[in-house]
Amino acid sequence: MFPAAFDYIRAHSAEEALAALAQHGAEARILAGGQSLIPAMRLRLARPAVLVDLGGVKDLGYLHEEGGELRVGAMTRDVTLERDANVRARYSLLTDTGAVVADPVVRCLGTVVGSLCHSDPSGDWGAAALAARAVMVARSASGERLIPIDEFLVDSFQTSLEEGELAVEVRFPTPDGRTHGSYQKIERKVGDYATAAAAVQITLGEDGRVTHAGVALTAAGPRPVRVDAAEKLLLGQLLTEDVIRAASEEARAASDPFADTRGSVEYKKDMARVLVARGLRASAARLGTGVTA
Ligand SMILES: Cc1cc2nc3c(=O)[nH]c(=O)nc-3n(C[C@H](O)[C@H](O)[C@H](O)COP(=O)(O)OP(=O)(O)OC[C@H]3O[C@@H](n4cnc5c(N)ncnc54)[C@H](O)[C@@H]3O)c2cc1C
Repeated sequence: MFPAAFDYIRAHSAEEALAALAQHGAEARILAGGQSLIPAMRLRLARPAVLVDLGGVKDLGYLHEEGGELRVGAMTRDVTLERDANVRARYSLLTDTGAVVADPVVRCLGTVVGSLCHSDPSGDWGAAALAARAVMVARSASGERLIPIDEFLVDSFQTSLEEGELAVEVRFPTPDGRTHGSYQKIERKVGDYATAAAAVQITLGEDGRVTHAGVALTAAGPRPVRVDAAEKLLLGQLLTEDVIRAASEEARAASDPFADTRGSVEYKKDMARVLVARGLRASAARLGTGVTA
């Protein structure tokens, strides 16, 4: 199907995009990589009267470390994170995630910020951002505000961005030497959305005990699910099989998926359990400690 008619504005700077959003209000939508918005428009699930294209805003396509954070600009494509050597070496959770979003064609066009703005509970970046404690940067005519990812992802396809705001960046805290993570996903075939998926990030202290834990689930509720109970349970613990089992049971309990052609509720809940356990073991292996006996 063809999209409904719309006007098109190609912005060349964030300021031009903000001016267009201010002029057209709720009628306008940002176009980033178009990998979710264009299909939605073709199905007429979205009918923006005005598209404000960020494709010409070259200075939002960056990826660099600053102030103890990895800063990812709004026009940075998934593939950039997937291929960046520093990200591969230090941000294992993000590399894992970048490698399993859709297929290479989508990853060459889709942006991390666009995926978070789309706020699909089956999108892979939401859980990864929760586990990594990401922060979104939103800009408007009145300035910039920082939004912790837990507050940014409000509901299915709903964020806390306000009318006239543009998400210009997402920030991921730079892991110290004792932090690693993992993204584990089950999909029906390569390129599919998750049947179930889990994001895990762990920091160990000198004594090998967990000093920070991030655990979140994809496709396990109306928005990505932070598993608070698992995070609390892990704190101060050695990563033993018993601790991993208890934390992954919390993931099962927190998972609240719906049944569809990808699987039943029970299957998806159990996969949340399995994937969190796998993610914790993979993180322990990357930390060089393995699972403590
Ligand atoms: C075949 C296919 C398979 C897919 N499989 C997966 C998958 O397995 N996992 C997965 O996570 N995703 C998957 N996706 C979805 C896709 O990866 C992401 O949703 C997409 O990359 C979003 O980024 P984008 O830049 O393309 O956003 P767009 O489609 O351009 O925009 C998405 C939404 O976010 C808004 N938006 C975008 N950028 C901004 C901004 N800077 N400020 C404010 N609002 C903004 C837009 O207005 C729109 O509402 C798939 C897509 C396709 C086509």
